Amino acid sequence: MQSRNSYQSSSRRGSSDERSSYAPRQPYAGQRRDRYSPQGSGYGGGRPSPRGGARAKQFIHPSRFIQAATVTEKAEYVPVHSFADFDVHRKILDNIALKGFEKPSAIQDQTIPLVLQGKDVVGIANTGTGKTAAFAIPMIHDLITHMDHRAIIIAPTRELAQQIMDECFSFGKGCGLRSALLIGGSSMGLQRRDLRYNPRVVIGTPGRIKDHIQQGTLPLSLFNFVVLDEVDRMLDMGFINDITGILSRVSPQRQSLFFSATMEPRIANLIKQFSNEPTTVSTKEGSTVDSVSQDVVYYSGGNDKLDKLHDVLIAGDCGKTIIFDETKRSVERLGRELSARGFKVDEIHGDKSQAQRSRALQRLKSDEINILVATDVAARGIDVSDITHVINFSTPNSYDDYVHRIGRTGRAGKTGIALTFLPR
Ligand code: ADP
Ligand code: MG
Repeated sequence: MQSRNSYQSSSRRGSSDERSSYAPRQPYAGQRRDRYSPQGSGYGGGRPSPRGGARAKQFIHPSRFIQAATVTEKAEYVPVHSFADFDVHRKILDNIALKGFEKPSAIQDQTIPLVLQGKDVVGIANTGTGKTAAFAIPMIHDLITHMDHRAIIIAPTRELAQQIMDECFSFGKGCGLRSALLIGGSSMGLQRRDLRYNPRVVIGTPGRIKDHIQQGTLPLSLFNFVVLDEVDRMLDMGFINDITGILSRVSPQRQSLFFSATMEPRIANLIKQFSNEPTTVSTKEGSTVDSVSQDVVYYSGGNDKLDKLHDVLIAGDCGKTIIFDETKRSVERLGRELSARGFKVDEIHGDKSQAQRSRALQRLKSDEINILVATDVAARGIDVSDITHVINFSTPNSYDDYVHRIGRTGRAGKTGIALTFLPR
């Protein structure tokens, strides 16, 4: 039986109050990356100029935006384990079956046994390869079998935290585990109430977790299972101090898991500082971009840019599409423009309330709309199946950002299309 304050009720409570209590205090991608203010009223030539203190935009040679998708005739991964081989609680196995997962993905196959042994694990794998379940399945087993254990999962964006919460809920259904979702844009009061119920799982973004630490509402020393998801992204977003602050307060007798799509020296440093003889599993094969067919679209002045976009969107192969643009204002403006042209579109950026952001994603998932215009806030972690196109209406700030943006398509064995708009 599930308790009233288990995953589902907890996350619902969170979202019901978001509208009235939106307080965008915490930095996240949309806000940090919106460094340019649009100039000029048209979509043609007007080049944005950096605001004070902005990081310079990296020059990316146009040739890097062009690449045919590699037809993946790679031998399919044959897992060593079946889910039933994992020594996890019966309920979890039932829930896995209910989700329709037949066999573990490579990262799941190789990390779940290590996590079940209590080891610290660093998991490096391409996007869309099932990293969430790789930590959620053994974590839930650990919580069911150790009543004194509590887990905290830290993720870079609100959407991703919510998505992880949903995934944990689906694996932990019927296990009576209470949870709390600590994200910006939601009521602190309701989150404090959720925390008073002593949740066994806390999922949150660094900024809001820090707020709770400062208010004394999150007794981190009682948490002995830590997951950092999308570590590379969190560091990109400047969360390093928040993360070290959080990790240094969690119980020293703990198990720590780190998941990332890339491994770089600064990530290695963080892991070294906060883990205990970790085992690193990397299932990275080629790069994410291999499954995405990439090309550029050249535009000239006037309304040509918008017209070219229009042409792409009405071409027959365009299904679900995410269009990335640079600033909150330009995203709003483009969304309005496309809407006026009759496209079914919504927008996500850092000035939208969390309820609006969740709703926009939900509308895309349920086919109510097929175009989402977004700032980089949506570039990472978001898993919407069947996105056919990623369109960079403005060029990304770095090649890394580019890879994250186009990683929204070509997921889970499919191929996708990425188009980057460049001035002629
Ligand atoms: P990542 O975190 O690596 O980007 P996700 O955890 O978001 O990937 O998973 C991507 C998608 O694959 C999700 O829709 C998830 O439900 C699905 N998925 C994960 N593991 C499996 C599996 N073993 N079998 C089938 N689908 C899976
Ligand atoms: Mg993930």
